Order: sequence, then C-alpha cells, then structure tokens
Amino acid sequence: MAANTVTPALPAPATPAGAPAPAPNPAEAPKLGLPLPVLHATVLDWYEANARDLPWRTPDASPWAVMVSEFMLQQTPVKRVLPAWAAWMERWPTPADLAAEPPGEAVRAWGRLGYPRRALRLHGAAVAITEEHGGEVPEDHATLLSLPGVGEYTAAAVASFAFRQRHVVLDTNVRRVFARAVTGVEYPAQATTAAERRTATALLPDAAGTAATWAVAVMELGALVCTARGPECGDCPLFTSCAWQRAGRPPYEGPARRGQSYEGTDRQVRGKLLAVLREAFGEVPQARLDAVWPDAVQRARALDGLVADGLVEPVAQGVYRLPR
Ligand code: SF4
Repeated sequence: MAANTVTPALPAPATPAGAPAPAPNPAEAPKLGLPLPVLHATVLDWYEANARDLPWRTPDASPWAVMVSEFMLQQTPVKRVLPAWAAWMERWPTPADLAAEPPGEAVRAWGRLGYPRRALRLHGAAVAITEEHGGEVPEDHATLLSLPGVGEYTAAAVASFAFRQRHVVLDTNVRRVFARAVTGVEYPAQATTAAERRTATALLPDAAGTAATWAVAVMELGALVCTARGPECGDCPLFTSCAWQRAGRPPYEGPARRGQSYEGTDRQVRGKLLAVLREAFGEVPQARLDAVWPDAVQRARALDGLVADGLVEPVAQGVYRLPR
C-alpha cells in the first residue's frame, strides 16, 4: 500500500445524521502523504487563491441565499444556476416572500434548471420556515433536516456554509477528491458509504470555522481541478501526495457508471410539457401540450408523472395549469 493511501476500514462509526461531526481521533486518521495540518493548509491556501467569486459565498449572503443556492446546485452546474439564483433572490429575498406565493410560481421561476421538483420542495421549505421558524432559516442541523426537501447533504451544507458549523459535507465533487487523493481510486462508489463518511470525518479540521472553509474548499477543488473526466493534476495542490496519482492513475474497475442520457427520455418530455405551462401564465388546453411531443403514450405518461409529482394541476377535462 502506498504511504499516502487511507486504511479502508477505519474503526470509528459514521457520523449519525443530525449530529455535528465528532472531533478527529489522531489514531484513526487516514494515512496520507501529508500530515493533516499540512493537508488542510495546502487546500485552504489553494482555495483562498482560486475560489470563484460566487454571490452566495459573500459575507453578506443570507442563510436563505445559501439555502436557495444549495437547492439549485444539487443537480445543475454553477453557470446555469447563477442567473436563476439572482432572479430568485431579487423576487423572493426572504422565505416569507416565496411562501406568500403559490407553488406554481416557484415552478415557473425554476425555468430550465431541471429536476423541477426541487422548486416545489424549496417552496415547501419556505412555507415551513415562515410558519414554524419565525421566517428565519434554522441553524440547527436536525431542524434543517426536518424541512421539506432538505436531506443530509443540504442540511450539512447550509449549517456549514451559512452558519460556519463543523459538519461533514459530502457532495459528488468532495467524494471524488477523497476517492482519488486519499483512497487511490478514480471514482467513489455510486452511493455514499460509511467508509467514505469516516474518512471525511477524520479529515475534518477541529475548529468549526476552519472546517466550514475546508468543506467548501474541497468541493471547489473537485469542481475546478479534480473534475470527473479530466482532472488537471498538474494544477492540483495535492499532486505530490495524491494516492491515485502516486499509484499511476489506475483505471476505474467498479460497476458501470450511470450516464446522463436525456434525449428521448420521459424527462425530456416532462421538460417540454412543463415549459408550455410555465410560459402560459394560465390554464392550458390539452391540444397545446399534445403539440410538443409526437408519441402519445410517452406524452401521457410524462403528464401523469407531472400531475402525480404535484408540478401540474388538472383543472377540468383536458385543461391543466401550474399548481396554486
Ligand atoms: S492530483 Fe489529480 S487526481 Fe489527485 S486530487 Fe489532484 S486533480 Fe485529483
């Protein structure tokens, strides 16, 4: 085993959802090519010099602004999120502003960000924050987790990025960096494993503020340098210590990775149907929906799915609208 690879089975239990990450036990730390403080300093220095200037990272960004960004960024690239986020925050600068409008307006404003159920969930979170939390995004991880649409990742990200708390924040970028730099494999498992969580916990800096910056710094490294298909190892601050690099970049040997096919899928049909409803500002007859996709069976299946998901409301026989 290379000197900088992690011991796969660390004995500490995974951090339970809702709990702050436990302080690291030096005896359980992954075996890295760098001492932990040097690793932290290396990545944090890189982040300070290279971080993108994103509006939800500014010191005056509200917790709501951070939460909106996290919902949007879950499955959409930053470049597409930026204008949608700016328009959203201009229109709904607080959760109460969004909660005062029908959920269909959230779906309309979601535009082409994709996976529009996120818009409904964000609206649901805004209503819960307004009605149950005095209009303020809660700081507590467990309370965040109780909001509609807020899962383990989003709760940790909001607690960390908005409130500077110490949590393990594991998104696809972070998981990929740790898989390569620490474990020495090109890609992580398809679903997050307990071993990954233990590794991430062991690597987390002690101080809450530093841990919060570490979380976003590793994420940024994965987004900008250690990318999925073309890692720029020559520009990486971890180049000399990276386990995958030192092992000669062994090819991925795990199960086939899921593709992102879109053309011809029900997702594409749903997108086309929803675009008609978003642009209509009112009720839409079936005939206008029928015009966007030739396959009647697939079209009906996609429309049924939108109705079942609460993204579309049937108002009369053959007439539809966004939810109110
Ligand atoms: S050296 Fe390459 S593979 Fe390793 S962490 Fe950096 S970019 Fe990723």
